[in-house]
Amino acid sequence: MDTKDLAERILNGERRALARAITLVESGRADHRAQARELLAHLRGHGREALRVGLSGTPGVGKSTFIEAFGMMLTGQGLKVAVLAVDPSSARSGGSILGDKTRMERLSRERNAFIRPSPAQSHLGGVARRTREAIDLCEAAGFDVVLIETVGVGQSETVVAEMSDLFLLLLAPAGGDELQGVKRGIMEIADMILVNKADGDLKATAQRTCADYAGALRLLRKRPQDPQGFPKALTVSAVEEAGLEAAWQEMQALADWRRESGHFAARREGQARYWFESEVRQGLLARLETKRARAAMADLAEEVAAGRLGAAEAAQEMLEHHLDAVMPGLDAA
Ligand code: GDP
Repeated sequence: MDTKDLAERILNGERRALARAITLVESGRADHRAQARELLAHLRGHGREALRVGLSGTPGVGKSTFIEAFGMMLTGQGLKVAVLAVDPSSARSGGSILGDKTRMERLSRERNAFIRPSPAQSHLGGVARRTREAIDLCEAAGFDVVLIETVGVGQSETVVAEMSDLFLLLLAPAGGDELQGVKRGIMEIADMILVNKADGDLKATAQRTCADYAGALRLLRKRPQDPQGFPKALTVSAVEEAGLEAAWQEMQALADWRRESGHFAARREGQARYWFESEVRQGLLARLETKRARAAMADLAEEVAAGRLGAAEAAQEMLEHHLDAVMPGLDAA
């Protein structure tokens, strides 16, 4: 494959080239991984910057409906919008909560929108890498906004927050006066809370929920990357397309402030370091997963179990003599 040519076509904004490149970065095959690295190297330094917006919420809260309405609003303003997904369920079972083709039908027909479901991968780390690389590709292709959607279960929020410039939490109106079991850790990484379904019978409840969360956010430790008044909680209705413009303005205000204060660039730098280290870790772990390494592990474990070798001694033997340098990509095997 001519990765240089593919890179040029991506930079020209050719959708088919972008789709093909994402398929390439999703592949776990060693030769594809090598080509993907080459492609990303050709694209480095293109100078384009998308706003990367992570969005998390439990199933049923209205993520697809919101993304479709929000995406339509953005394309209506002449912006190019890409939608990617990190779906931990697809990582576990091969089935997908977010991959349903019928979702976002209107948006998928928009010329300035590009929607890509979560790749089916064997583990969240694999999905994360592919999504991060897909973000880079969308950015190079000239998308203004890249939305990265995830279901609020497991570790996927942290993973998505680590690849976003802004991280949004979508919530439903909650009955009663309890905050919906939103974990503190998630509140702490949220840059904005959007309480969806603020319409019809649910409107008053949504407003109350929003006020509760606004209060909860104020109690959190002040973060240096937030200007006065952030993080905010707002109400929206994806169905009635209400509050979307206001939410977008707040997102832009926050992003602008962070750009000017240097926090935007600092966050991306931190993320780049984090992903580098995580790639190294994954590469090391992959070296334990080759056939030869697994066999050696099993043999040494027998020795340890039988008391013929000490654990530390056997581990040393393993690390020094039985790890091949594997081609990256085997991690998906
Ligand atoms: P997801 O699982 O988070 O992607 O949620 P969906 O977008 O599939 O929406 C789940 C359900 O909530 C659907 O029946 C939607 O019609 C409904 N829904 C989504 N947004 C709104 C909204 O703003 N107001 C109301 N009343 N219902 C909504």
